[in-house]
Amino acid sequence: MNDELLSLLDGDDTGFFAWQAEALCAQTDPEAFFPEKGGSTREAKRVCQNCTVRAECLEYALAHDERFGIWGGLSERERRKLKRAAV
Ligand code: SF4
Repeated sequence: MNDELLSLLDGDDTGFFAWQAEALCAQTDPEAFFPEKGGSTREAKRVCQNCTVRAECLEYALAHDERFGIWGGLSERERRKLKRAAV
C-alpha cells in the first residue's frame, strides 16, 4: 500500500484523515447529518450522493463503529444492517 493511500485510510499524527479535507458535509449544515430521533435524513443523504470521499467516509464509520449520524450516505441503522450482511 502506498503512503498516499495509507494517509487516506489511517490518518496522520493529529488524527486528521486526508479524505476529511474533501468532505462535502463540511461545507453544509452539520446538523443535517445528526438529526434528532425521527428527524429527516434526506438532505444529508442527498449531500453524500455528491461527495467524492463517500467510500472512505463509510469505511471509516464502519471501522470506528460510529454510532450516530449519517456517514457515507448511510444512517446508523443502515450501517448496522450492512455490517450484519457482511459477516
Ligand atoms: S459521504 Fe457524506 S458524511 Fe461522509 S464526508 Fe461525504 S458528505 Fe460527509
